[in-house]
Formats: sequence, structure tokens, C-alpha cells
Amino acid sequence: MSHPPLSAADWLAHENAWLAPYAMRSRMSRGQRHPEDEHPFRSLYQRDRERIVHCTAFRRMTGKTQVLVASVNDHHRTRLTHTLEVTQVARTVARRLRLNEDLTEAIALAHDIGHPPFGHAGEAALNECLKAHGGFDHNLFGLRRVDELEERYPDFPGLNLSFEVRWAFVAHSGRTDAPECGEFRDAGSPLLEAQVVDVVDSIAYDTHDTDDALGLGLINLDELANVEFWNRAADRVRRHTPGLSGHPFRTAVVRELLAWQVTDLLEETSRRIEEANIRSVEDVRSTSSVLVGFSPEVRRLKAVLEQFLRGRVYKHHRVLRMTANGKRILQALFAEYLQSPELLPEKHLRRWAGADAVVGPPPPGWVTANRLPLPGLECVVGDYLAGMTDRYAQHEYRRLFLPSLEL
Ligand code: MG
Repeated sequence: MSHPPLSAADWLAHENAWLAPYAMRSRMSRGQRHPEDEHPFRSLYQRDRERIVHCTAFRRMTGKTQVLVASVNDHHRTRLTHTLEVTQVARTVARRLRLNEDLTEAIALAHDIGHPPFGHAGEAALNECLKAHGGFDHNLFGLRRVDELEERYPDFPGLNLSFEVRWAFVAHSGRTDAPECGEFRDAGSPLLEAQVVDVVDSIAYDTHDTDDALGLGLINLDELANVEFWNRAADRVRRHTPGLSGHPFRTAVVRELLAWQVTDLLEETSRRIEEANIRSVEDVRSTSSVLVGFSPEVRRLKAVLEQFLRGRVYKHHRVLRMTANGKRILQALFAEYLQSPELLPEKHLRRWAGADAVVGPPPPGWVTANRLPLPGLECVVGDYLAGMTDRYAQHEYRRLFLPSLEL
């Protein structure tokens, strides 16, 4: 028996039948900034998800620091693999809670797209450089990236994502004062799908930063034995799989930590939704309490683990040395481009000085960016630097400051 192929309308019916009443539905979206025809068989959020995966900033996350600069070795997490871990866990959580999995996935895939090179040190460096121009926030840069800077479509700048995926950048940043946040001010509390991504982000980095730090020898199992969360997860592993040691033991404890957090999150979130009597998306938007979260016990255990990671991993001298260099690289590049904008690649120079600044016809990608008002030089340089990978920023630094005649 043959089945008719799935249509967009079938998918909307599926959402209605399958999702919880407090889950966001595609048909309830506030839509896109530039109206487009509906796709014949993909929902709005499915299209968002696919546009994100195909954009340049998404691919560049492969070369961006999570905690450790991307070139340290080939098996610790980068921004991209962190993003994929967050996405996988967030989808599992969304499905279990009957939330909109496509929307959750799109938000998760995009959540770190605005991170500059060199992790939080890179963000701090750019924030200082741009202090007089509103500072730098990776969430708001992520929004600008998908709204303006991606050049893929002839009819509009950016990716033209749905209101809900764009809103998640602003909800995550907490910076409601910035001018670009204006259209989201009356949106209320974040959707459950956005809250899930926010919380799952912490599940992923607490767990994999511990794993990576062990793998790189920044910390050892004896030190972790003094951290209650790790120790109790290790006890569970010893009970259900006795006799493990070394690498298999480590990976089993990491898995246990992950599973424990996810299970706790699901139970506590269901409890809160029930307790707050949440029956619709409107209820989610109008409640002031955070609905997606951990039990008090897991919150406490995570806080102690995070304190340990801050002291022993994020402030480890090997990590600090690396990130201090990253910061210096960005500061030096920023100052140099500001002083000599003619060193900027043509595409970026045009954004600042307009089409007349460069002789010759505009490059094909210019057709969309050209429709936007011209930003100041600091903003153009900040955007250029924030879009770089760790490797490209180092390469650019060498090209500008080391004695070589490389073209
Ligand atoms: Mg993240």
C-alpha cells in the first residue's frame, strides 16, 4: 500500500495531535520579518533549523573555542560539537515533555552561533573594545548574524528566521535595553522550548567540560572524588557496573552525570508545570516563574561542580595562558583595523564606507547587505572579528604583525 507524501498541512495536524497544550505550534508563530510563501512540506521551524545548519556561522563553530582553543587536540569539544550535544539532549527533553521538537532543535542549533573566537575571553575582549558602542554580547551578535550578516538569499538579508527562534537570542541574553530587543519586549516569559535549551546548555557544558578537563590532564579522578556530584555518580556506577576503572570508568560516570541531570530536569519541570497549572502557551508567557529547571538538590550539586570547574579548569594556568593570548590577538586586530580600515577585506570595508569606497562592481553577496544602513567602523570591525574562527584570527594576526610578505 502506498502512502501519500507528507505535506506541511499534515505536519500542522500532527503538531496539534501530538504536542502538549503548552507547546508552541508552527501555526501560532508571529512569523518572519520578510513574508515568504509556505514551504510545501516543511514547517516554519523545520525550515529555520535547516537554514541554520546551512549558514556560514554554523560551520565556523567547528573552529571556535568552547573552553579550550580548537587546536589543542582533535577530541575535546569545540563550539560545534557542544552545539550538537546540546541539540541532542534538548530534543530528547522536548520530545518527552511533548514540546515542539523542531523549534527546540532550531533554537539549540543557533544558540552559540554568535560566539566570537577564543571563548569567553574573546567575548570579554570584544566587549572592552566596543564599550563606547554598546559593548559585545554573543547572544545579540547571534541575532545580528542571522538577521543581517548571513548572505544567502536574494530577497532578504540574513536567514529570515521565525520570531520565536530570534526571540530566544534575546531571552538568553537578558539584555532588554539594547535597541534590537525592542520588538521582543512585549513577548513575555520565554517559551518552554527556549527554556529547555537554556537549561540543557548547562547540562552539556558541566558534563563535557569535566570530561575534557580529565582527558587533557587538567584535573584527575582523585580531585573529582572530593566533588559530591561526581562522587555520587561514581558510586552509582560502581554499584551497577562493578570493576570498571580508567577510561571506561570515566566515561560511565560522565554518562551517569548526564542521565541524572536529564531525569531530574524532566521530573522537576513536569512538577512545576503541574503546580503552576500551565495549560497553554499564553500561560507560559504570562507566568513569571521559570518552569524548566532542576530540583533543589541537583541545583546544589551542580553549583558545587561549577565552582570546582571555575577554580580548577577555567582558571587553570594552561587555559588562562591560552585565553590571554586570544584576548591580545583580538585587541591588537581591533586597534589595527580601526587605525587602517583599508586593511579590511573589501566586503567589510564596503559595509562601513558604502559601495563607492571600493572601485569596481560589488561582489555578488553585496546585494543583500547593501540594503541595510551603514554601520560605524567599530561595529564593522567588531562584526568581522566576532565572525572569525580561532585559527583565522591567529592567522590574521600573524599576517598583520609578524615579519612576512605573505599575500
Ligand atoms: Mg552553549
